[in-house]
Amino acid sequence: MNIFKGTKFYSIFWGKCPVCHQGKLYQTRHLYRFSETLKMPEHCSSCGLKYKIEPSFFYGAMYVSYGVGIIFAAVAFLVSYLLIGFDRLATFFMICGTLVLSLPIILRLSRNIWINLFFKFNPTAQKKNDQ
Ligand SMILES: [Zn+2]
Repeated sequence: MNIFKGTKFYSIFWGKCPVCHQGKLYQTRHLYRFSETLKMPEHCSSCGLKYKIEPSFFYGAMYVSYGVGIIFAAVAFLVSYLLIGFDRLATFFMICGTLVLSLPIILRLSRNIWINLFFKFNPTAQKKNDQ
């Protein structure tokens, strides 16, 4: 999907470096290996960008994860209550199940959104390891 390349959507949804869109933000693609879900390389393998620009940088992603979680919960509600027609208790458990099962996705999306608030795409940053 290169139509989004050069936009923040590409970096957020494909987990790429926010500056060069080449390097990966995470060391593994496996979301559900919980010990490795949030492991990130220190620097971008392509442009050398330091991902964690200050100590505890990604704590700010907690605020983003609240909003992302609300979106996941709202979609679960719409699907289970309005589309499928479950009662309120079943809908509640569907929302809880959705949030638990999608936790690694929510965590990564939140980090991706958070880091993209501080950097913007620079096509000339590729293959430059001097940062
Ligand atoms: Zn990069």
